[in-house]
Amino acid sequence: MRVDAESAHKTYPSILRDLACELDLDFAFLRLTDIATRTSILVAEWPPRVGITYPDPSTLAHRDDPDPILALAATMNNVTVVSSTGDIAEQLDGSAPEGVPLVVIPLIAGGVDVGGLGFAKPAGHTWTDDELSSLRSVAALMTQLQARVDAENRSRFAATHDDLTGMSNRRALLDHLNARLEEPGCGPVAVLFLDLDQLKSLNDFLGHLTGDEYIRDVADIVREELGSEDVIARLGGDEFVVVLAGPTDECAASAAAETILKAIDVIDMPLADLRQRARIGIMMAQPGRITAERALRCADQAALIAKIGSTDNIEHFTESVRAQSELRSDVEVHLRDAIEGDDLVLYYQPEVDLGSGKITAVEALVRWRHPVRGLLPPGAFIPVAEATNLAPELGRWVLDTACRTLSEWQSTLPSLEISMRVNVSPAQLVEHDFAETVEAVLRSYGVDGPQLCLEITEVAVVKDVDRTRKTLHGLHQLGVRIAIDDFGTGYSALSQLKELEVDALKIDRSFVTDLGAGDANDLAIVESVVGLADAFGLDVIAEGVETAAAVDVLLALGCTRAQGYLISRPVPAAETLELLRAGTIEF
Ligand code: C2E
Ligand code: CA
Ligand code: CA
Repeated sequence: MRVDAESAHKTYPSILRDLACELDLDFAFLRLTDIATRTSILVAEWPPRVGITYPDPSTLAHRDDPDPILALAATMNNVTVVSSTGDIAEQLDGSAPEGVPLVVIPLIAGGVDVGGLGFAKPAGHTWTDDELSSLRSVAALMTQLQARVDAENRSRFAATHDDLTGMSNRRALLDHLNARLEEPGCGPVAVLFLDLDQLKSLNDFLGHLTGDEYIRDVADIVREELGSEDVIARLGGDEFVVVLAGPTDECAASAAAETILKAIDVIDMPLADLRQRARIGIMMAQPGRITAERALRCADQAALIAKIGSTDNIEHFTESVRAQSELRSDVEVHLRDAIEGDDLVLYYQPEVDLGSGKITAVEALVRWRHPVRGLLPPGAFIPVAEATNLAPELGRWVLDTACRTLSEWQSTLPSLEISMRVNVSPAQLVEHDFAETVEAVLRSYGVDGPQLCLEITEVAVVKDVDRTRKTLHGLHQLGVRIAIDDFGTGYSALSQLKELEVDALKIDRSFVTDLGAGDANDLAIVESVVGLADAFGLDVIAEGVETAAAVDVLLALGCTRAQGYLISRPVPAAETLELLRAGTIEF
């Protein structure tokens, strides 16, 4: 027979009633102990009292409760007969003492006290041996029943909850969400999909135990922030879903998302330098119009887009999110073919000496000539490549093409003296044979090490400092130059600047574009980066120069090298060759 708490609770009153009739009882009760909360709950009694539904939470009694009968029921390990005032009259050993009306029988399962049964006869009546032994049998049966209920509850809990956090799992979440979405007029239902970016790094660098601990911290803090009616589930890995209670509007959903992110932000990150990076995608689901599965997928897509865009870490599901997410799936499916085929192309953006306009370098920037979507910018597919382990393969293609092109230009223009700048993904930098790969490429096209400058980001450096140090050392041996790209935006790798073999800093364009327009912050940052580069003996290059005013400020600060739309946009190889032939650019 399948027993659960509900069916058992329905059965208990009838058992008590039958016993009461059979043994001519005055009253009977059943209490069950909730071990976790140390409370004894009145589950059934006979005769039932009017106005009470059992189990009756208002009759919860703490096990440390002074009520002597309850305390007794909770601590006894043998059948005991007590007086109606609660004094123990005698430990029962077969014969009942005259005039004592109440019998309390503890329910012990596997050595653990799970509750107690109490029976009272009308005053003056006595208990016979037969009666007492049938009460004992009843108690044994009830104990068994309760043990099965507990086991059932435990396995139901396990089937609907996440092991690590004790939160609902995907199955329970979908059940809840489906129920909510079947109530017409009770919407919209806000579904928040929370994604933590940093779990993989934590697991990789500090082990799964630390990762698990972090997940539990997040679970606890999210639970604390939300109302008791809100449903929180963990879908596994670093994905949590919150379904807010009651109809919610977009503003309230955004506010809840912000609260969650703020709370997560305060958790101590066990990995120094690793910033908290959580994202939330929000789907406002209308009951009757969408299934739970679909609503969840929409919230997930919004979270994914929030991650890719990384400008804002909360994103509502919209048509544009749907389109971006389709693009992402498309990229995932076709990027490998594009790398292996002929669909990728490099554009080159010149970098000049601001004083003379002389071209000092070009930066290779990849694009995808997509058969259906047209020319895709790297932002549309590099993040996907990084998320799907295609980054090293893509990077090899870029490096190979850039070096081959440089050597072709050199044969056309023998006096050409420029650096080729190539962007490197974090994933490439931690490959142990990266320096060898670079060496092989240089050799096969006859390019000298110092003509190649690899651009890495601070994120990449921080990710695995030891491995990065080794790789950079290997590259340095080849004479290859290293620049830190987007400098100023990421984790400060300042402390590592000195020991890592780095040659240049590229000031992120966000500080440069509006330079000269009066923003004191931008000015201060650029000034300090220039000073820093100077102190460490590094080259400094400004990106994103769009105005003559910015050029003036840069020159005044002593930054003489720059690239940007004012000077030239990235252009295809043939056009670049023409620029190189001219040697200087007027702007
Ligand atoms: P990045 O390395 O910071 O490259 C500079 C980006 O800024 C380029 O965008 C360039 O077109 C753009 N840019 C240049 N001057 C200006 C300007 O004056 N104003 C503005 N608003 N933008 C300017 P693009 O080509 O879309 O590349 C975006 C990013 O994609 C690059 O940023 C780089 O991080 C990444 N990327 C591009 N090619 C590769 C590659 O081959 N490998 C890797 N790993 N990443 C690449
Ligand atoms: Ca770059
Ligand atoms: Ca950059």
